[in-house]
Amino acid sequence: MSSESKETNINVVVRVRPRNQKEIRENSPIVISTSGVKGKDLHVKANPSDPQSKTYSFDKVFGPDADQQMVYDEVVAPILEEVLMGYNCTIFAYGQTGTGKTHTMEGDLTSCAGKDAGIIPRTLYRLFDKLEKEDSEYSVRVSFLEIYNEELRDLLSPDDPTVPSVKLKIFEDMNRRGSNEVQGMEKILVNSAQDVITILQKGSNKRQTAATKMNEASSRSHCIFTITVHIKETTSDGEDLLKVGKLNLVDLAGSENVGRSGAEKGRAKEAGMINQSLLTLGRVINALVEKGLHIPYRESKLTRLLQDSLGGKTKTCIVAAVSPAKCNLEESLSTLDYAHRAKNIRNKPEVNQRMTKKALIREYETQIERLKMDLQA
Ligand code: ADP
Ligand code: MG
Repeated sequence: MSSESKETNINVVVRVRPRNQKEIRENSPIVISTSGVKGKDLHVKANPSDPQSKTYSFDKVFGPDADQQMVYDEVVAPILEEVLMGYNCTIFAYGQTGTGKTHTMEGDLTSCAGKDAGIIPRTLYRLFDKLEKEDSEYSVRVSFLEIYNEELRDLLSPDDPTVPSVKLKIFEDMNRRGSNEVQGMEKILVNSAQDVITILQKGSNKRQTAATKMNEASSRSHCIFTITVHIKETTSDGEDLLKVGKLNLVDLAGSENVGRSGAEKGRAKEAGMINQSLLTLGRVINALVEKGLHIPYRESKLTRLLQDSLGGKTKTCIVAAVSPAKCNLEESLSTLDYAHRAKNIRNKPEVNQRMTKKALIREYETQIERLKMDLQA
């Protein structure tokens, strides 16, 4: 059973971080500015002598002074409400390495709501806070997956993270076309935000250790943290209703290796380091924006796993992270163009809810009675 759905555009927000030590030391001027802490516009002025700045508009723009709490309140809090209503939602962090993707997604993982806690810990904290206040039955499961070099790794599995797991397979969820799941992945049942934080820290460390051991850069891998919430409610007429909401929090590989057009850039190409998933993500976005007949979802692990978040039934938000400094301007412009194009993608979100077995059996019984009557007539 699914409720009526309306098409909505993907939500695209930009976060500009403060200049880092290196940018300050090198005296790299600020070329990207915002209208205050938060607004909708972003101004680019490559040279002080330029008569005018170029303005980009997004759903939201956060300046260097915006803190984690503000990003959560403005972007994530409304999404959590949707998840609790039974929607699938995805938040992508996109941008050049060092611009604040992991800071935004994870931030400080040692506390659930400390000043530097990012989207993941804050969401968990708020989620359990809300669930504990309601009297419906619920369960929360989490999974944490990494895609490196088109191989899937389960960051929550007790197995050695340096050995790519062969048991992980992507398959299509029969109940929901375009929605793919990973078979063989740990989906850990959790009882509190603190529970998850402990698990996450282990997963995050595992990612680092594996990367170091194998001489991999974590900036070239994609991480998908998924929270699945089951809520059982009893409606006013005594029916049991099961709602399933899902939130994917995706920390993408650094965008510097792949250009907006989906072509590989010089250095990455020379080194033969093809980031198939990032390349394909760009191509999928382009194909969706240009309303192409063929959308190449199947050409990478990332786009297969998140197919439903791109032109599907999921509510999707992209957080594009950029540096304000001139030395990174080329990459920042590429990120802004990419994000701007993605604004044109339209999804058709649908609620996942169904009656529980008891209610279904009752409905089948009524149908059988009706058919019997028809036969007798
Ligand atoms: P990425 O994941 O995009 O490679 P990180 O999230 O690791 O980048 O950020 C790089 C550094 O910049 C980190 O030390 C991080 O704490 C800092 N940083 C990023 N964004 C912000 C911000 N908005 N405010 C303060 N520090 C930030
Ligand atoms: Mg990172």
